[in-house]
Amino acid sequence: MTVIHADARTISTMQQHYTAYLKQTPPPHSVFSATLTGVTVTAYHSGKVLFQGANAEKEALKWSKTTIETQKTSDKKSALPKGFDSWSVIGSDEVGTGSYFGSLIVCAAYVDKEQIVQLKKLGVQDSKNLTDARIMTIAQELKRLLPHVILDVDPTKYNDIQPTMSQGQMKAECHNHALLRLLKQLHPVKPEGILIDQFELPKTYFNHIKHKEQQVTENVYFATKGESHHLAVASASIIARAAFLESLETLSQQIGVNLPSGAGSPVDTVAAHIIKTAGMDTLAKVAKLHFANTQKAQAIAKK
Ligand code: MN
Repeated sequence: MTVIHADARTISTMQQHYTAYLKQTPPPHSVFSATLTGVTVTAYHSGKVLFQGANAEKEALKWSKTTIETQKTSDKKSALPKGFDSWSVIGSDEVGTGSYFGSLIVCAAYVDKEQIVQLKKLGVQDSKNLTDARIMTIAQELKRLLPHVILDVDPTKYNDIQPTMSQGQMKAECHNHALLRLLKQLHPVKPEGILIDQFELPKTYFNHIKHKEQQVTENVYFATKGESHHLAVASASIIARAAFLESLETLSQQIGVNLPSGAGSPVDTVAAHIIKTAGMDTLAKVAKLHFANTQKAQAIAKK
């Protein structure tokens, strides 16, 4: 038997995770009890969670790491174990969520601890401190050096999905999918940890992917400003940023209009120009239509 202590939030996440395995009548004082192959999981209102059976320890391990993480995040302290920055880690990050034009890109990249020194020499750091030209150069190198997965949700796809899915949901599903693919690619090598650049609470994240057939939960950590906690996130961020800039460039060429990034007023002017000269169908191929920029551009186009 293995026992872990979890906060109410984590227990609720666990209950959702085990939805399909819940017992109809859980024991007294328990929140839930679930029977899986080789392990029974029972969570109590006291915060104690019991794992019983042959797979008890393995199943508990999934949660103890996440639990430590969730508790610390709510404390606003560093959520990561000591020495995390020198572990072999998969980092993942997304780019383009705040930009009207261009794709939503999610990238997961694996950095073996032996590569950390090399990446530092290469100049890998927070992409916000790097020029676009520098990002393109470093990204080329990183794509050669690191196992990685890039997911590109182009505006056509994005506009197709967006009416029925929040951006948070879309991001969570993309991160989960990228992580799954990279873990398969790495097999039998396993990262010591997975760090997602935090864009929502871990609980919300796991809630977003709970309906997915396969969920990456083991050794998953979240941290805001993830790029400052491990070069794997900084690398994923640089690769994603480069892919985003490439998507802008490709779309610009396709419609013969220079598309700026961001969501400020220059974007409205360009969007209005596209509406007037090529129409809404063309705009839908290059822009995330649910942004307020669409209405602003339509108003400008009518003038
Ligand atoms: Mn991020």
